[in-house]
Amino acid sequence: MEVQTLYDFTYILTKSYEDAMNRKSLTEGFLKALSLFFSIEELKIFLMDEYSYTLKDFIKPWENLIENKENIEIKKHFDDFLIQKSTYEIKENVLYFPITQKHKTLGVVKLKAREEINSNNEFFKILPLVIAQISMLISTLRGSEQIKTSSKFHQTVRNIAKITETQYELDYILPIMGEMIDSFISEHLIYIFIKNKNKKEYKLIWPNKCSDNKIYDYLEEITPKSRTILKQEGKMGIFPLIVDSKPYGAIVAYNHSDKITSKEIEYLEEIQSQAQTTIMRAKSYIEVLEYATLDALTGYNNRHQFEKRLKETTSSAKRQNQPLCCIMSDIDFFKKVNDTYGHAVGDCVLKNVAKTIKKELRESDIPSRYGGEEFIFLLPHTNIEEAEVVAQRLRKQVEAKKINIEEYKIEGIKEISVTISIGVSQFDKSDKDPENLYKKADEALYEAKESGRNRVVVYNKK
Ligand code: GH3
Ligand code: MG
Ligand code: MG
Repeated sequence: MEVQTLYDFTYILTKSYEDAMNRKSLTEGFLKALSLFFSIEELKIFLMDEYSYTLKDFIKPWENLIENKENIEIKKHFDDFLIQKSTYEIKENVLYFPITQKHKTLGVVKLKAREEINSNNEFFKILPLVIAQISMLISTLRGSEQIKTSSKFHQTVRNIAKITETQYELDYILPIMGEMIDSFISEHLIYIFIKNKNKKEYKLIWPNKCSDNKIYDYLEEITPKSRTILKQEGKMGIFPLIVDSKPYGAIVAYNHSDKITSKEIEYLEEIQSQAQTTIMRAKSYIEVLEYATLDALTGYNNRHQFEKRLKETTSSAKRQNQPLCCIMSDIDFFKKVNDTYGHAVGDCVLKNVAKTIKKELRESDIPSRYGGEEFIFLLPHTNIEEAEVVAQRLRKQVEAKKINIEEYKIEGIKEISVTISIGVSQFDKSDKDPENLYKKADEALYEAKESGRNRVVVYNKK
């Protein structure tokens, strides 16, 4: 009988751990297993938080228990278990026993039964085993939680570093940072704000919407000396971005119900300092940019150089009375590549697409990186029919190209391929504004996306 119950107990526990996705479902598994011995009214687990040295509810660690009467009671039992005064304690229909690991007391289980608990219950014979098993499962779950966030965090830091190696436009980098932080701080909303230079107010950069207007008031509290500011009983963390001793912006993490954990604060502070460095670098790069012409990732002209070449080519097309065309390309579903394989693979894909296209171009064609994964090509001495043929060839080559990503060690995947959508336009010599050339290509590109992607659309004046 005893052996059978012990067997059942272990079986239910192990099974529940396999199915457990989180602390709540694991606790439900414990409840099920312990119900073999008691008719249970309530089961609660409290763990000692090593940062704040307070006991926290296993399922709702953000709830503040300090002033709570229950917590004083729990703390008393915890201390008793800590000095190993007892292995369990019974108070009428409530049972307390410890969670331990390597003889260290980690927390307390509080079990409230529907009737009075009798210490003759066979449960107490196997109690040391129950404690060992429950403790092990809790530690394993906590361990895997830590590994998960810590590996996501390190991946985020690496990804941000990678992006900022080759990108210097803050309009572009900051939203990507938001996107990345968001992916590992999953329980909190992440916002990025930048101070508007002239108006001196904070502007939301990431994501598109912030419905909590209070944040704007809090942001006003930031001074050049500000460190992390916690608001709303620790549910909101404001991480100021101070650049050149001036408030430049802030990263904000917020959740209506959860407190931010000390670990998350630690992570966000690290990213905050990385962001500050990135901003400083980007700002000084802008000065250098005046002289730079090439994009570091693709070797194409950068945006700045593109604007220059656009002016030159349009005016010489006019002068020589020669046709000039523009091809604009954008990788299809590129965000998905980043999300699935990480930004390093995204960069590798970008580089490869640029290289594949470059091979198809003539010496006189001018390739530029317009923005993130958008390329723009100026084709002098080329009419629209020819340009369309070129565009189709680029599209097909990119589609056929297998990009090797073995070095990124993604399980089971050695190569991937992507497609591009393309818009084509021809320069109208009577047009005074050279920019219209690529605006038309952009419009056609938009249509290519709308009509299904992986296709070429030629701009037609309607
Ligand atoms: P669509 O087919 O509509 O173009 O879908 P999409 O996912 O490609 O959407 P969109 O063009 O709006 O998104 C481009 C994404 O490309 C956003 C950004 O995360 C990513 N990206 C832009 N530049 C870079 C870069 O230099 N490196 C990496 N890894 N990702 C980039
Ligand atoms: Mg795009
Ligand atoms: Mg795209």
